[in-house]
Amino acid sequence: MNYKNITIAGSGVLGYQIAFQTAFHGFHVTVYDINDVVLEKAKNKFNSLSIAYKNDLNATQKQLDETYQNLSYTSDLTEAVKNADLLIEAVPENPTLKIDFYKKLAKVAPEKTVFVTNSSTLLPSHFAEATGRPSKFLALYFANSIWIHNTAEIMGHSTTDPKVFKDIVAFAKSINMLALPLKKEQPGYILNSLLVPLLSAATNLLVNEIADSEIIDKTWMKATGAPLGPFGILDVVGITTAYNINKMAAENTKDELKIKTAKYLKENFIDKNKLGVSTGEGFYKYPNPVFKKSDFLE
Ligand code: NAD
Repeated sequence: MNYKNITIAGSGVLGYQIAFQTAFHGFHVTVYDINDVVLEKAKNKFNSLSIAYKNDLNATQKQLDETYQNLSYTSDLTEAVKNADLLIEAVPENPTLKIDFYKKLAKVAPEKTVFVTNSSTLLPSHFAEATGRPSKFLALYFANSIWIHNTAEIMGHSTTDPKVFKDIVAFAKSINMLALPLKKEQPGYILNSLLVPLLSAATNLLVNEIADSEIIDKTWMKATGAPLGPFGILDVVGITTAYNINKMAAENTKDELKIKTAKYLKENFIDKNKLGVSTGEGFYKYPNPVFKKSDFLE
């Protein structure tokens, strides 16, 4: 792996974190977004991220100063990729928008540039053709709060060059990710293939009035030794995401349980702005949720 210049496309929830983590580990990072107003917002978000790096990683001021020196910004796509060894795409999770982005990118990126997508739900094979370089395209999937939840799932499609795949594994390690290679395409990668069924089973138990959320979490935590139960996890993920998934499934399948779950989440959480950790309350109240108390499992 001989990468030096990395371009991050999209500076939203995930993009700005990927940019900062990559710059922190010594790469030259160009942040690209649709306009300068959005880029200014990203710069402000880097300031709060610096505090998190100090608190959570004991980052020194020197390391943070160097991180800022490694970052540059542009809303001109040609400029953004002109020297890029690697482009990490973190634009919105909208297939049409992504395809359009890759088509534009393919026209201006140098031949050497490898593209990776951070898409949560779409497979690299959906975009491979639009990239104009299928063999140099794959998925590199980060989780939210990447400096602490530092997983990177790496997933190629059928014609990804194995050497490029290996380079991306090496790159992920070089920015302090736990590199997790997948052998073939899988919707939801590994993490969401495990997590989505767990969270959905938990909400089914709740909505079917089998047990309340604390009892379900206690069962999972005590029996498996996990630090959080499914409802504690849902508060971290954000109840809006669970609501949107159920609402979409309800509309598409007309499944009674999905309809009931979407209604339950809307009335008890969404309408009351209880969206999870981000709003201070979801299934639990934060910053001191009851499941963190020493007697929760007694
Ligand atoms: P977001 O909506 O927060 O940010 C998207 C950014 O892309 C915005 O800054 C927006 O201005 C910019 N953008 C819009 N159109 C663009 C274009 N044509 N070209 C360049 N930039 C454009 O989205 P996000 O949550 O950061 O998600 C980005 C990707 O990362 C998605 O594919 C998503 O599935 C994935 N992802 C998100 C999370 C998460 O927890 N939010 C976790 C893992 C992966």
